[in-house]
Amino acid sequence: MAKTCLILTAKTLAHNLTILNKYRQHTDIAELRVDCLDPNERFMIRRFPEQAGLPVILTIRREADGGHYDSGEGSRINLMAKGLAYADADRRRNFAYLDIEEDLSVPSLEEAARTFGTRIIRSYHNFAGIETDLEKKICSMRHSADDIVKIAIMANSTWDVLKLLRAGKKCPDQEKILVAMGHFGIYSRILCEQFGSLLSYAGTLSEPGTHPPAPGLLDIMDLTQLYRYGSIKNTTKVYGVTGYPLTVTNSPWFFNTIFALEGINGVYVPFPVDSINACMELMQELKVEGLSVTVPYKESVVPFLSNHTAEVRSIGACNTLNLDPRGWQGANTDARGFSDSLLKFTGRPHLKRQRVTIIGAGGSARAVAFELHRLGARALILNRTVYKARDLAAPYKFAWGGLDSLGIEQMGKYKDIIIQTTPAGMEGNDISDPVKLYNFTGREEVMDIIYKPEMTPFLKRAAAAGCRVQNGDDMFIRQACYQYTRFTGKEFPEHLMARFTSGI
Ligand code: NAP
Repeated sequence: MAKTCLILTAKTLAHNLTILNKYRQHTDIAELRVDCLDPNERFMIRRFPEQAGLPVILTIRREADGGHYDSGEGSRINLMAKGLAYADADRRRNFAYLDIEEDLSVPSLEEAARTFGTRIIRSYHNFAGIETDLEKKICSMRHSADDIVKIAIMANSTWDVLKLLRAGKKCPDQEKILVAMGHFGIYSRILCEQFGSLLSYAGTLSEPGTHPPAPGLLDIMDLTQLYRYGSIKNTTKVYGVTGYPLTVTNSPWFFNTIFALEGINGVYVPFPVDSINACMELMQELKVEGLSVTVPYKESVVPFLSNHTAEVRSIGACNTLNLDPRGWQGANTDARGFSDSLLKFTGRPHLKRQRVTIIGAGGSARAVAFELHRLGARALILNRTVYKARDLAAPYKFAWGGLDSLGIEQMGKYKDIIIQTTPAGMEGNDISDPVKLYNFTGREEVMDIIYKPEMTPFLKRAAAAGCRVQNGDDMFIRQACYQYTRFTGKEFPEHLMARFTSGI
């Protein structure tokens, strides 16, 4: 099973030991980044493996490879030799691994290392981007049959991650560590079994006094607790959420928690992708069995489906894919997640005679409009790009308009319930309140489907005017419960519902 490697980047050995002791139970291997140590500490590294009490990688990373060592190659090699000197017959007292870049050849040092059981990690870093012939690189980098090959490459797109994954698959017998750095490669740090990697490097991102992590590096607690890295095997079913930029999502937390509670051999990871075509190839390569889809791919994913529900056909957007022998099956769980949540919030069995404003005409607004129509409401759709409001309103014979003074005026006739479906007000989004000109009377029931932050500026303004308000948390949980059923074929255990809802 792939191992966890905690990277130690503090300035002193004592501080590194304190950090290691704090996270010891989550760590299989430690990497001592000697280049991050204060210069006078670097000469005292020899006893560190014994003090650490677990296998340690000796790494002195030079600046060109993203490290901090700037005193020249001669002194770097000397320092490596110091780390390996006075090798002990008890191998646990020696460094277990020595990281040497692929372009550095010091046969005497390497021979000495091997003699006393220190394995060589032959590493290659490229922060600029992917190589053209990665497969050749992986298969030809080692100097000795015993070398472990490490490739860490900045993924500038999903295609780059695919190239790394495919190249690794072509060299199945080579012991290797493959890392796609950056946001696009985040799942390569979790799905080591699927990438054929021996280990995943992780950091301690909240520890003061440590160096900034490599791009995309995960915190050890997220890796081991949120993603349950230690339980991922090559038989573990892989699920995930795709979208872009995919910076705000509670789905990994929801699914990994319920998988753990229900004893399901599954892992759920984020797949930030810049192309839906690349995404679907990636799903095939990683044998992903279930996928949640979010902004902006809910519509563009539809052509990849073998079958879909009537809701997907009517709504024209799909947020849930599960694989069966016929191919990808598509569903839209936003729709029922939304209406279950709204009916509970309003305490009504249906929405007949209710006049409702929908703000936005994107993927989720399509599901909202479909459900409001099914439940008998009359609605007004307002959108920044007016023709999209018109197109969405047409099949339901709803009213429509822009997010301008004329549109806001129309809201006067559709104000029993107001549903905000745009990303305005979401964490990381500057534009906060899409209907600033609308004055709440205090009698409207107001729902914002955003759940991070808990209260958007729009929702705060409604609450301050005396309106009953609800955020998107309850909808998120309900649509995720439907996804759980699509993914696993099991009903979501009702009694666990309360563990997931915050109740706002
Ligand atoms: P989408 O398909 O990209 O739709 C975006 C919509 O918002 C479009 O109508 C767009 O107008 C409008 N919009 C974007 N930025 C705007 C701004 N600054 N001011 C005014 N209008 C703006 O996205 P989506 O899938 O519908 O998702 C929208 C939001 O709902 C996201 O925040 C998502 O996280 C949330 N969501 C929550 C749940 C849940 O379970 N709680 C489920 C699904 C989605 P134009 O047409 O003019 O571009």
